[in-house]
Amino acid sequence: MKIVVVGSVAAGTSAAAKARRNTEDAQITIYERDTDISYSGCGLPYYLGGEVESIDDLTPRDAAWFAQRYGVDVRTGHEVTGVDPYARTVRVRELATGETFTDTYDELVLATGVSPVVPPVPGVDRPGVFTLRNPRDARGVHAWLTDRDVTRVVVVGAGYIGLETAEQLVGRGLDVTVVEAQEHAMPRMDGDMSARVDAELRAHGVELLTRTRLVRVEGAGTPGSPGAPGEADPSGGVSAVVVQDADGERTLPADLVLVAVGVRPNLDLPRAAGATVGPTGAVAVDRQGRTDVPHVWAVGDVAESFDVITGEPTWVPLGSTANKMGRVAGDALTGGSLVHRGILGTSIVRVFDQAVAQTGLTEDRARAAGHDVVVVHNIKPDRPPYLGGREMLIKAVADRATGRLLGAQAIGPSGVDKRIDVLATAITYGATVDDLFHLDLAYAPTYATTKDPVHYTGMALD
Ligand code: FAD
Repeated sequence: MKIVVVGSVAAGTSAAAKARRNTEDAQITIYERDTDISYSGCGLPYYLGGEVESIDDLTPRDAAWFAQRYGVDVRTGHEVTGVDPYARTVRVRELATGETFTDTYDELVLATGVSPVVPPVPGVDRPGVFTLRNPRDARGVHAWLTDRDVTRVVVVGAGYIGLETAEQLVGRGLDVTVVEAQEHAMPRMDGDMSARVDAELRAHGVELLTRTRLVRVEGAGTPGSPGAPGEADPSGGVSAVVVQDADGERTLPADLVLVAVGVRPNLDLPRAAGATVGPTGAVAVDRQGRTDVPHVWAVGDVAESFDVITGEPTWVPLGSTANKMGRVAGDALTGGSLVHRGILGTSIVRVFDQAVAQTGLTEDRARAAGHDVVVVHNIKPDRPPYLGGREMLIKAVADRATGRLLGAQAIGPSGVDKRIDVLATAITYGATVDDLFHLDLAYAPTYATTKDPVHYTGMALD
């Protein structure tokens, strides 16, 4: 059997590794247009802030490692430009030489991921305006930060990538402004929770401008032109951004701009193969990763997932999910029976001194899905105060008629990671709010309170 995988970060490499574990006979080739493979994109903000010293720590594997460990042939610098699903061939361009060739497959796994969305505003292509998706982007930002006299940074977008980067750049002593079009930072959460994220950002000196949009990026010269002698930045680098809120336009000086307003799936190849794009805008797949084109699979950020609660297609592009989807498809295409059971979009991000986490439906989304909801807020310390316990806020959302837990959000300085994972597990197995009280959770005062914050959440409807 000949397996061709396109994309070699989280999902593609997981698929290849699992396929190899299942069968020693398959010939497995991964094509990757970039140079880095199987890296930790999630660690990139921490390289920018210096918490991760070397980018090499985030890119520990190369093609030689994959060849040796898994017998997988990883071809970096190779872009797959076309698919013929009838002939079962892919068209490949070697980027260094421009040479193209055709390769055949028995099974084709598309793990092409996503690309950052860049709003089409004037000046957004100036040097000094970055997105952060891969090590190449991170090297570019890092070089700009170290080679230039950067003091003011504007981050556009207050999702988790924008906020992780903002936190890290504040740690470098920079003046950071975060611009967000929605009412609060972390707009995927309910407003009453994300308002706390706003407060945390401001408490650490971040200027947070909500309900504010990027209008244009201004620079010292014309991009690409040598510029006039004496100009502040003859390369045409960024000097300011213009933003707009309800009161009008405002100019924010900036030496570096990070655009982090979201991502969209890389659909060129799935479309070329004839695969259907689902209602979420990502590739529609079954629970093992098959598209509706025979012998073509799609995994990771490029593909839809399933909501654990509703069973409906959903799309929350996360590394945790991409790894799982890759493994499931790698198993299935080599005859295994693993099935993707769906996701809750469970996620967590550190924002200065607060861990900010969520799983399942928010109150807003539960209502939008037609649930009559009951909402529980509960503020409790993660440990007894005599051992340094500090308060966390848990918000749980349940269906009023059945009591079934639909989602939870949590914010606090410590212990949030454990609680959100317990809550995600409980939701996965269909727990009601009342069930939470009955969970037999570990207690010692060094780690928890006798009745844990999760137990208190289960007692809130008493
Ligand atoms: P990608 O990582 O997008 O990889 C797709 C690959 O396919 C790319 O390398 C691309 O070059 C290649 N490709 C595309 N088209 C072609 C083609 N035609 N030919 C050849 N190659 C092609 N997730 C979490 O769960 N937790 C976190 O804390 C977290 N933090 C993050 C922080 C940052 C800064 C970023 C950027 C992401 C973070 N993520 C996090 C998300 C996580 O990194 C992604 O969900 C994950 O990388 C998705 O993996 P993937 O393999 O599906 O796609």
